[in-house]
Amino acid sequence: MASNLLNGVAYVTGAGSGIGQSATVALVKYGVRKIAITDLSQKGLDETVALLKGTNGLEIETIVMDVSKEADVVDSLQRVVKRFGRLDYALNNAGIGGPPVPTHEMELAGFERCMAIDTTGVFLCQREELKIMQKQANAGPRLGRGAIVNTASMYGLVSTPPQGLSNPAYVVAKHAVVGLSKCDGTFYASQGIRINAICPGYVETPIVASINQDGHMNAEFAKAPLGRAAQPEEIADAIVFLMSPMASYVAGSAMVVDGGYTSY
Ligand code: NAD
Repeated sequence: MASNLLNGVAYVTGAGSGIGQSATVALVKYGVRKIAITDLSQKGLDETVALLKGTNGLEIETIVMDVSKEADVVDSLQRVVKRFGRLDYALNNAGIGGPPVPTHEMELAGFERCMAIDTTGVFLCQREELKIMQKQANAGPRLGRGAIVNTASMYGLVSTPPQGLSNPAYVVAKHAVVGLSKCDGTFYASQGIRINAICPGYVETPIVASINQDGHMNAEFAKAPLGRAAQPEEIADAIVFLMSPMASYVAGSAMVVDGGYTSY
C-alpha cells in the first residue's frame, strides 16, 4: 500500500497499547500527519509517541481519557476539532477483556463495566465523531465525509467455545459493537460516512498476554487454520484498509481477521 493512502485527521482510542498502538503507527505509515491518540494510560501514550518520533511533519495530540465517561469523550473530540479543525478517520478501539466467568457466577458490576467500556464507549465516541463528520463536505464516492472503524472481535460474531473459559459479558459487548456498526454503517452510508467493525481473532497484545502467562492458550491459538495468533500489525493493516479509499464500497460490514478461526 502507498505511503500516501490516507490523507487527513485521525482519532484513535486505546492508542497506548496493542492494536490501538499498532494502528496508530500504521495510520502514520500510510499518510496521516495529524492524529489524536487517546487512552486511560499516559505511559502508554508516551510509548506510542516514542514509536513515531522523527516522523516528518507529524502533529500528535495526546489525550488521557476514559471512553466510558461521556464528558471525557465529548471533551476529547472537541479538542480534535479545536486543534485540527476536522476528523477524517476514527478508530474506536479501547476495550477490556471482560470477567472470564460463566453467567451464574458473574457479578453485576463486572458485566456492567465490560459493557460500559466495550460497548457504551464505542457508542459515545461514534456519536461525537458523527457530529463532526456530518458538518464536513462530502468529497465524493471514494472519500466521502469520513470513515469510522470499531474494534469488535470474532466474539462479536460467535460465542467463546464450550470448552474452556466462558466470557459472556465480552461476547455480549462485542456483539453489540457489531450491531451498532451495522446499524450506523447502514444509516450514515448515504451521508458519505463509512462505518465498519473489525473482528480480530486472538492477537498477541497485553490483554491476551495477561490471561496467557502460563501459555495455556497456545493450543487455542493453534486452532486457527493459520496455526497461530495474529500480531497487532496484521490487524492494523486491515484497519488501514477499511479506512482508506480502497474500501470505498465497504459499509456496515464486520470484517473478520481471525486466521480462519471462525470459518469451520
Ligand atoms: P490492550 O490491553 O493491549 O489495549 C487496550 C488499550 O485500551 C489499553 O491501552 C488501555 O489502557 C485502553 N483502555 C482500556 N480501558 C479504557 C478506557 N475505559 N478508556 C480509555 N482507554 C482504555 O488490548 P488490545 O488487545 O490491543 O485490545 C484492543 C481492542 O481489541 C479491544 O477492544 C479488544 O477487545 C479488541 N480485541 C482484542 C483481541 C486480542 O486478542 N488481543 C481480539 C479481538 C478484539
